[in-house]
Amino acid sequence: MPKPLLEVGGRPFLVWVMREALRWGIEEFVLLAAHLGERVVTSLGELSDALPRSVPIRVGMEPSPCGTGGALRHALPILDEQFLLLNGDSLFLGALGSAFAAFAADGADISCRVSLRAVVNAGRYGVATLRGDEVVGFDERPNGSGPGLINAGIYLMDRRVVELAGPVSSLERDVLPCLVKQGSLRGTVADGWFIDIGIPADLDIARQELPRRMRRPALFLDRDGVLNRDFGWVGSRARWEWMPGAIEAVRAATAAGWHVFVVTNQSGVARGYYTEADVVALHDWMAQTVRLAGGTIDDIRYCPYHPDGTVAGYRRASDWRKPAPGMILDLIRAWELDPAVCALVGDDPRDMAAAAGAGVTGHLFHQGDLTTVVRKILAACEVSSSCDGST
Ligand SMILES: [Mg+2]
Repeated sequence: MPKPLLEVGGRPFLVWVMREALRWGIEEFVLLAAHLGERVVTSLGELSDALPRSVPIRVGMEPSPCGTGGALRHALPILDEQFLLLNGDSLFLGALGSAFAAFAADGADISCRVSLRAVVNAGRYGVATLRGDEVVGFDERPNGSGPGLINAGIYLMDRRVVELAGPVSSLERDVLPCLVKQGSLRGTVADGWFIDIGIPADLDIARQELPRRMRRPALFLDRDGVLNRDFGWVGSRARWEWMPGAIEAVRAATAAGWHVFVVTNQSGVARGYYTEADVVALHDWMAQTVRLAGGTIDDIRYCPYHPDGTVAGYRRASDWRKPAPGMILDLIRAWELDPAVCALVGDDPRDMAAAAGAGVTGHLFHQGDLTTVVRKILAACEVSSSCDGST
């Protein structure tokens, strides 16, 4: 059995890893399945069914064992210009926010950014030496023990890195030292809960703790009047103006270990003011902008319907349209949330009604700085013992 497929909390461990990546907008997975790859292929349905969002999953299987670098090299034809590379048998909660933001700010000469974590005993892992945030040394599994910055197995990289990998090579032994020599490797030191199921004791810890840790509190945000100024029918970036503190509020909630979701009525589609594709494009940009600042919007629900609409196909009532709670309920189902540790911020009584209908606490927002409101919600939850998503 490949380690990533070992059962943890009623599903393959890999599902937890993929679920975390989905929160940062990953739209497709390629599983590099060297060892017992057939088992991975037969598990694809189970993996897909257990994810909160449907995304394509492909398996890149090399013809013969060729190392971690070789496996990546073999997948080169199907890799994007930039991509996220994750170990399938470890999980580092809280690492992706700072990594995405830092990689986006890196210059063109930087081809890879690795997430690092300070540990008391680094003997089992690869250890990095930093100068500023440049990785100037990399030792794989050094002899002896002691504190160190370990390679957490999370890389943001571009295709130039893969071109350095030989057809049979090791990412850790061959490719990373090459990047160090080029001066093109950066490290992001992050803090957070880390588990590597490579040894049985840690597999047991994962089985005990992971389901609880991944059942995070969730912040639902209305869009118009909360994230952006409500000019009426905002369907394009030209008409988008962030509310004060909106981006920082999302970053703070993400950093506290919360899911962040957007639930928004967009009857402008049904009324013919803009198209559904316009809404999706605007939301992609909105989520990307937040990610460049270190936060994330995990998922979005919008309702394009209205009973008085003029556009065929969108003229109808919908139980997703607030004040009905359909969008919130759908997110609770997909992400397996506990409504008791969810909160919604909206600027309209319909938002409050939708929250109540889903069993979620609603907070009415009247202008001002969104960060102030969100920090109060985060702090109140921290005080109650039921919220432990971040630690
Ligand atoms: Mg609103």
